Amino acid sequence: MSDNAPEVLISEDRIQTRVAELAAQISSDYGDIAELVMIGVLKGAFIFLADLSRKLSIPRTIEFIAISSYGKKSAPSGAVRLVMDVRGNIEGKHVLIVEDIVDTGHTLKYLMGMLGSHRPASVKTAALVRKAESAEVDVTIDYLGFDIGDEWVVGYGLDYAEQYRTLPYIGVVKPANIQAR
Ligand code: 5GP
Repeated sequence: MSDNAPEVLISEDRIQTRVAELAAQISSDYGDIAELVMIGVLKGAFIFLADLSRKLSIPRTIEFIAISSYGKKSAPSGAVRLVMDVRGNIEGKHVLIVEDIVDTGHTLKYLMGMLGSHRPASVKTAALVRKAESAEVDVTIDYLGFDIGDEWVVGYGLDYAEQYRTLPYIGVVKPANIQAR
């Protein structure tokens, strides 16, 4: 690992253990349903979705959705825009939204409303990381990996300016690396 590598906040081992626990919980909660439709939020959730889906012991299919958000803190809830919708029909299906990180909560709240309008049988949420102190809206995370403080994290799908997504751990970018960009 180079000196410039982000500082480890949540190690690869801890992530893998927690993802296995979440998968076991989800498999047990959904029991013998015909099919769980997992909807990953691009781009950040692609690795979490890949690992989580492969550890489930229930029938599942994979969809992706892409959104873009304008602004950050204190942005109005309408500041989230759909860029790519799900391809399959989710009406009457059990849906699990898979998010990388929940910060203010606006994105997840928007997605729950938007996907709910397709009349699925149920909608639940999974997020690997939550910044609990940053919540601006009340949104339920049914399956949560880790709570962290208010700092910009990268790795395991998460980026800083499209860098670091493929790191196996979650880390914090050192200030020197941010200034260098
Ligand atoms: P929210 O709508 O909950 O405020 O923001 C959720 C989105 O903001 C996430 O899906 C992610 O794209 C982005 N985000 C928030 N905090 C971080 C962070 O610390 N690192 C990265 N890479 N993305 C973040």
